[in-house]
Amino acid sequence: MLKNKTALVTGSTSGIGLGIAKALARQGVNIILNGFGDADSPKAEIAALGVKVDYHGADMSKPSDIEDMMKFAADRFGRVDILVNNAGIQHVARIEDFPVERWDAVLAINLTSAFHTTRLALPAMRAANWGRIINVASVHGLVASAEKSAYVAAKHGIVGLTKVTALENATTGVTCNAICPGWVLTPLVQKQVDAKAAALGLSNEEATKLLLGEKEPSMQFTTPDELGELAVFFCSPAGNNVRGVAWNMDGGWAAQ
Ligand code: NAD
Repeated sequence: MLKNKTALVTGSTSGIGLGIAKALARQGVNIILNGFGDADSPKAEIAALGVKVDYHGADMSKPSDIEDMMKFAADRFGRVDILVNNAGIQHVARIEDFPVERWDAVLAINLTSAFHTTRLALPAMRAANWGRIINVASVHGLVASAEKSAYVAAKHGIVGLTKVTALENATTGVTCNAICPGWVLTPLVQKQVDAKAAALGLSNEEATKLLLGEKEPSMQFTTPDELGELAVFFCSPAGNNVRGVAWNMDGGWAAQ
């Protein structure tokens, strides 16, 4: 069904992005990876699934890097059929203590980069009358937590961008939707577990339980594989008329 399509997944050298890239590759989708982590082992894992894979190291906070990556994708694969805007960073501090440079970085990487990739990917998707744009937002695109002003603002922003992208393409074969995970145990979250353990003198296991217990009624992490399967659904024919949703996979977090 998706064989020989091409997906560009930003921030896919680890975590959720890599999980989504692998789920799409299992459907026969060629993959362009991006991110700052080691690219060799993700590339090998994806190639082993029998699809073509390439990597571009664009810094998603830099519009000129993003333009270069989109040109690279078009040169190597013809066009990007599936765009997954996933790259993201976190910074935790109260507003009055929030470093201005960190605010700018979170907004640039978690929100503005998706505007750039989307504006650059849309013309070829529209010409083909088929495309899927999947924005990895967060449950923090739907509800807030203290000390995450930049992240919550960026994630609410990307849910808004998702809706506008969906509306502007509603009569075409191009859809845009957002995925809103609760806690997923990736390097981004392990850092928050470590900070809790250090601040409260807890073991890793105790700090993990505390983190889950504060927000996630299921007391379970969502996995990158589960999120990958949701992305596959958005790309499937059954997803043809799913447009502008912000679909949470959060163990009941936003239901409270
Ligand atoms: P992660 O740290 O494992 O992955 C982030 C990826 O983004 C990495 O590949 C990293 O190299 C890349 N990256 C960071 N800065 C970059 C930059 N300037 N340019 C290019 N790549 C850059 O984190 P993750 O948890 O997998 O996060 C992926 C996305 O999922 C983020 O948008 C995050 O906000 C979102 N998310 C994560 C969770 C969670 O619990 N882990 C929950 C909800 C949403």
